[in-house]
Amino acid sequence: MFIRSPFTLVTFTLLTGLAFPQTSAQTEVDQVYPEAHELYLDIHRNPELSLHEGQTAAKLASRLGSAGYEVREHVGGTGVVALLKNGAGPTVVLRTELVALPVEEKTGLAYASKVRVKDASGTEVAVMHACGHDLHMASLVATAEIMARSKDRWQGTLMLVGQPGEEGFDGARAMMNDGLFTRFPKPDVAVALHVSNTEPAGMVSITPGIYNTNADSLRITIYGRGGHGASPQSAIDPIVIAARTVLALQTIVSREVKPGEMAVVTVGSLHAGTRDNIIPDHAEMALTVRTRDQEIRKQVLASIERIAKAEAAAAGAPREPLVEHYYGTDAVYNDPPLAERLRVVLAEVLGKEHVITAPPILPSEDFSYFVAQGIPGFYFSLGGADPQKFAQAKSGGPALPSNHSPMFTPDVEPALRTGIVAEVAVLRSLLKR
Ligand SMILES: [Zn+2]
Ligand SMILES: [Zn+2]
Repeated sequence: MFIRSPFTLVTFTLLTGLAFPQTSAQTEVDQVYPEAHELYLDIHRNPELSLHEGQTAAKLASRLGSAGYEVREHVGGTGVVALLKNGAGPTVVLRTELVALPVEEKTGLAYASKVRVKDASGTEVAVMHACGHDLHMASLVATAEIMARSKDRWQGTLMLVGQPGEEGFDGARAMMNDGLFTRFPKPDVAVALHVSNTEPAGMVSITPGIYNTNADSLRITIYGRGGHGASPQSAIDPIVIAARTVLALQTIVSREVKPGEMAVVTVGSLHAGTRDNIIPDHAEMALTVRTRDQEIRKQVLASIERIAKAEAAAAGAPREPLVEHYYGTDAVYNDPPLAERLRVVLAEVLGKEHVITAPPILPSEDFSYFVAQGIPGFYFSLGGADPQKFAQAKSGGPALPSNHSPMFTPDVEPALRTGIVAEVAVLRSLLKR
């Protein structure tokens, strides 16, 4: 059901509500769009959990192989690396995530995921592409196809990466540890995009400088002394220490961080005990911490440790709490001159009115691992919202579901077409002959 030629622009305009200039870019997209849409539907129907993206990776690898790329699978687990060498010149990497989420899809779409699997703990969970990574993959494969068919329009090495485990922030690191930039060429520039409902489909947004936040995950184990629930004098209750700790942690952002600086401290899980009449001997909590500034990050992490230890000491705990910083990722940084240069490129193909500047966002991303290797990065946002629903939401109508919601769904055709046009334009500019 895809209208391919002379009416495509008209259809696209109706779909997006935005008028696009008819360009050769749109015509190129027409040629690859039906297959890209079919791949999108296939991946959407068959989502896979973090670090188990085997089928998804195989689909990507096979399409990229058929398009003429040299493909390596199983890089850092389920990661895929595809290279297209086209003479002397820079190496540019375009990255997509592979992973879906343990979310039960409630969009009611004909192609909604019905997949259920056992997670790492053995619990059955529903799985959904609730973050739009299916659209990123379809866009990357279509872009790859266009780049392979137009080798006379660029020069250098195009490197495509299908990265596992982005939602747990461990996939980029696993690929680096498996030689992503030593077994394969180290790129001169790294590019990625992310779809969301914060802009209508047909638009892209750019955030020069810091794009999102530093994310840190901590686990705190508080030790007490177990005993009978009816004899608290014989015990040291870790539940009471944990409760006090949770409340005291709230004062970091409200009392310690300078007003105006960005910081979030969330205790997302708290577990202790088994039944009413037993005082347990320990309590466990898990925290996520988000910051933008590195100094504020250090300050907040130090405060958490100080407060956890002090609350335990105040209660006479038999030993200090164990504070484990089990994961941290830096904010994604968009090289400002690169962002400005690519803004002009995107405005040329999408129209100036479809390229906007956006403030930094809160969710984090392990694309920062690429940038941390000293590679200038360009990570931009792709509008995903149905333009009509977006306009209604702006004027007080129902809010659009965010990424990770069971209702999340991009307006596929205009978003995917825009993603492809944008990626091709960015890559050709970075790999200019
Ligand atoms: Zn996500
Ligand atoms: Zn995502």
